[in-house]
Amino acid sequence: MDARLEAVVDIPAVLGEGPVWDEREGVLWWLDIPGQALHRFDPATGDDQSQALGQEVGSLVLRQSGGLVLATPDGFVAYDWARGRGDLLASVESDNATTRMNDGKCDRQGRFFAGTMAYDFTPGAGAFYVMDADHNVRKLFGDVTISNGLAWSADDSTLYYIDTMTGSVEAFDFDIAAATLSDRRTVVKISESDGLPDGMCIDTEGYLWVALFNGGAVHRYSPSGALDGVLEIPAQKVTCCAFAGDDLGDLYITTASQDTDDPNAGKLYRCRPGVTGTPVTAYAG
Ligand code: CA
Repeated sequence: MDARLEAVVDIPAVLGEGPVWDEREGVLWWLDIPGQALHRFDPATGDDQSQALGQEVGSLVLRQSGGLVLATPDGFVAYDWARGRGDLLASVESDNATTRMNDGKCDRQGRFFAGTMAYDFTPGAGAFYVMDADHNVRKLFGDVTISNGLAWSADDSTLYYIDTMTGSVEAFDFDIAAATLSDRRTVVKISESDGLPDGMCIDTEGYLWVALFNGGAVHRYSPSGALDGVLEIPAQKVTCCAFAGDDLGDLYITTASQDTDDPNAGKLYRCRPGVTGTPVTAYAG
């Protein structure tokens, strides 16, 4: 796959994550989780700014009323970049100091879905939650080890989901009216030699783009789980990917530099894979 991959932010993140395109401001928000920083990349100028968060934030979404919502170790926090501060909307496992929130995304109704994980990766210590527009939080299921990538099919009938330690992309039947999940099944089984599935996004053809941690690649899979393409990344720890830009035709890829002296590790990459992504939905509450 020749997609003109380039590094757009050279300063290495410890573990870059959570890229989200913000069409309102024409910027890409992204996180350095252990670096405890929120980044704002402006593709028009190439300028990347960051703010210290003081905690490990696993993911972010846009908020319809303005600003962002962060998935933090204490729960969901509304965040205002201009003020550089946040306000807790709803607690999630805030009484459990051994876990933090990780990957998350909004469905097309504007609910924020995100899961948790133990800092020490204790098997089954995490869970998967949804915060409705009224800030009420419901636990959808437990027994999660590293809650990671998620993506919805264009008709909202399917939620694709990654718990990294399963080595799989799974799917649920999704009821968007009630925000309920059923019929969990495995769609893609990834061999250990290809790395661990981490972040994920979906394109307008319904194909899944899966970042492979320790795999040095992003894989594209058909909705039925067939490997369709391999986008090689010059860093092994590939963490997440998201479509961005005015035409949603730019794919941004985050990577990690922890535990390696590879000079290509931890950079933010971008390419034009030849397909476009689906628009981001902001949190409704
Ligand atoms: Ca992740």
